[in-house]
Amino acid sequence: MAEPNHTPPTQEDTAPTVPRAFGYCAWHQGHAEGVRLIDVIDQGSGSGITHFACGPCIAVNNLVPFADR
Ligand SMILES: [Zn+2]
Repeated sequence: MAEPNHTPPTQEDTAPTVPRAFGYCAWHQGHAEGVRLIDVIDQGSGSGITHFACGPCIAVNNLVPFADR
């Protein structure tokens, strides 16, 4: 009795690996999909201020995402 030795690859959704975060874009001051963390302003005491920007604003303003520095 021969059992098939190979297991077919699971057919999962071929979702793009690009992380898509929905958040507030501080540059055009509105919510957008695919925002990236651009800057963290450390206030010393308390929580820091974080600035997110969406893709188009990153391109227009030549922003460098915080994680890419
Ligand atoms: Zn934007």
